[in-house]
Amino acid sequence: MRLIAVTKQVPTDAIREAYDAGIRDFGESKIQETAEKQSQLQDLPDINWHLIGHLQTNKAAKALEQFQWIHSLDNLKLATRLDRLAGELSFSPQVCLQVKILPDADKYGWSVPELLADLPELNKCQQIKIQGLMAIPPRGLDDSQLLDFFNSTRELADKINQQNLPQISMQQLSMGMSGDYHLAIQAGATMIRLGTTIFGSRIG
Ligand SMILES: *Cc1c(COP(=O)(O)O)cnc(C)c1O
Repeated sequence: MRLIAVTKQVPTDAIREAYDAGIRDFGESKIQETAEKQSQLQDLPDINWHLIGHLQTNKAAKALEQFQWIHSLDNLKLATRLDRLAGELSFSPQVCLQVKILPDADKYGWSVPELLADLPELNKCQQIKIQGLMAIPPRGLDDSQLLDFFNSTRELADKINQQNLPQISMQQLSMGMSGDYHLAIQAGATMIRLGTTIFGSRIG
């Protein structure tokens, strides 16, 4: 299991401390904020940067330069564009597809039927490495509903794997944040994304 330390709104000296403690996977949600931090942390070359926030299509090239992992790939148009740019720029990012297991007006991502319908097109992406799913539960679920939510995410990944699509391998489940990671792990999370638990509350 991989722990991703989410450093949005976290200053670089705290990132250095986490690095010194052995963390190498850091999650950020914005392109500009990441650029500023990366320029201050150039002496730490072996960090894996994970994009966990919505990516606007016009920032796809920037994202490819900044991130080894993109968890928040959330629509087919972006996937196609990212794949083409990745080929042109010779990057091969690892990506997760962001899915909405339950309807959620506040979030980006594929609904389950939309995702299943888009799989044949996603399977044409040769350059990006589709590795799994990211899911974020809607607000207000209790523990048993959260566990159901995370289990449904794992079941969806299994169902997709059964289609044996050569470009789509659902090995990774990016799920679980500070409030619910214990349940996500119980359901088979392979990557948990923790901010508050590691760095304390963010301002705003
Ligand atoms: C902010 C954020 C996290 C971390 O949230 P915490 O509750 O502070 O652990 C995880 N995933 C995503 C997508 C986020 O935006």
